[in-house]
Amino acid sequence: NELTTYKEAPITMQDFRFHNTTDIRFGTDVIDAGLHDAVTQFGNNVLLVYGGQSIKKSGLYDRVKALLHDLNITELSGVEPNPKIDSVREGQRLAKENNVDVILAVGGGSVIDASKVIASAYYYDGDPWDLVVKANGADRMKLNQLPVVDILTLAATGTEMNFGSVISNPATHQKLGTQGPNSPAVSFLDPTLTYTVSAWQTAAGSIDIFSHLTEQYFDAQPANDASKGMIEGLMRAVIKWAPIALEHPDSYDARANLMWSATMALNGIVQLGGQDGWTVHPLEHELSAYYDITHGVGLGILTPRWMKFILSDDTEALFARFGRNVWHIDNGSDREIAELAIKKTYEWLNLMQIPMTLPGVDINDDQYFDAMAQSAVKVGHLDTAPYVNLSVEDVKKIYQDSMTPEEF
Ligand code: NAP
Ligand code: FE
Repeated sequence: NELTTYKEAPITMQDFRFHNTTDIRFGTDVIDAGLHDAVTQFGNNVLLVYGGQSIKKSGLYDRVKALLHDLNITELSGVEPNPKIDSVREGQRLAKENNVDVILAVGGGSVIDASKVIASAYYYDGDPWDLVVKANGADRMKLNQLPVVDILTLAATGTEMNFGSVISNPATHQKLGTQGPNSPAVSFLDPTLTYTVSAWQTAAGSIDIFSHLTEQYFDAQPANDASKGMIEGLMRAVIKWAPIALEHPDSYDARANLMWSATMALNGIVQLGGQDGWTVHPLEHELSAYYDITHGVGLGILTPRWMKFILSDDTEALFARFGRNVWHIDNGSDREIAELAIKKTYEWLNLMQIPMTLPGVDINDDQYFDAMAQSAVKVGHLDTAPYVNLSVEDVKKIYQDSMTPEEF
């Protein structure tokens, strides 16, 4: 009974404006009929961006080259997970030298994130790291941006339909988000291209989707049922289909559900009317920045600890709603349902066969916890968050709690 538990500020929704023009092409083999025209609407000089060997092994690289055989293609390969600013610098150089008209990103979130910043860096003469940290007056929102067409190969980030990128600078231990003026122009979402994603990356991707949903769900606007209901439905889809994808990597239903959930979780729609107050992502970005771990795995380790940490008399009603509507827990007091929901979240994460402690990803001591916590609070504005504030000490406690297995 939502009304009796309602005790927050009587604001249903924040005002918003929503504009997202990404042209989505979803389904098996959608690139065959659509890729050539989607690219050439912008011109014939293409910068093809990809990661390591996965698209060569799967045959996707050869398919793309055959479909675009009549175009001028320059290649940037080797974009790594947690994409590094050096890849963006190289992309900026190649894009300028070859006067490209359009960027074609083929890969997961890392490839697409790097491509979006290269798209801005084409119109910038300085170091593209300026665009990420907004140094020297650089502002991506005021710059032009090359069109990005992408073929997504991993369901996780939602970058295929949003304005964000996350770029790492190993020299400074920084991993920072940056927004551009445009989302990708065209995104090809073919679930069959994700059949080859490893169990590790499938788990990490699914947890990333789940984390995007929790980050947006837990806020102080419990009456925003339109958004909360969409998020609950997406959470149920991920919880159901991720273990099936692990067991049956070539289940179309599982891969299709994960792919569309990933896009919907972070194309901006479910955040509408809500408060922007992400917490676990800033904490994870520090782990990736210092230790280069897999983003989704870091989120999986931190999320249940964060949930336990913020559960209180003020937050229990929303956690209980999460328990009832996402985990189908019907019996008990709000606090009991809330606690059981967090336990079930932990068990689901465990089912995904990822390490559930920081030592499990080779973070064996707390030497950087203070520096990481300082940076997370500063970058994520966690001490002034609209939902539950976290201080540097709070963040350190969550990192400490992540050193050992959780007990319920
Ligand atoms: P990813 O880092 O793009 O890729 C991870 C690994 O999966 C790579 O080694 C890649 O190999 C492999 N892979 C990709 N597709 C494959 C396929 N079809 N078959 C086999 N292997 C495949 O993973 P991601 O989770 O999509 O992206 C993570 C990054 O996105 C992180 O930096 C994270 O912080 C960021 N992120 C961005 C947003 C956003 O909104 N922009 C949101 C959340 C997270 P290859 O290199 O060989 O292709
Ligand atoms: Fe993420």
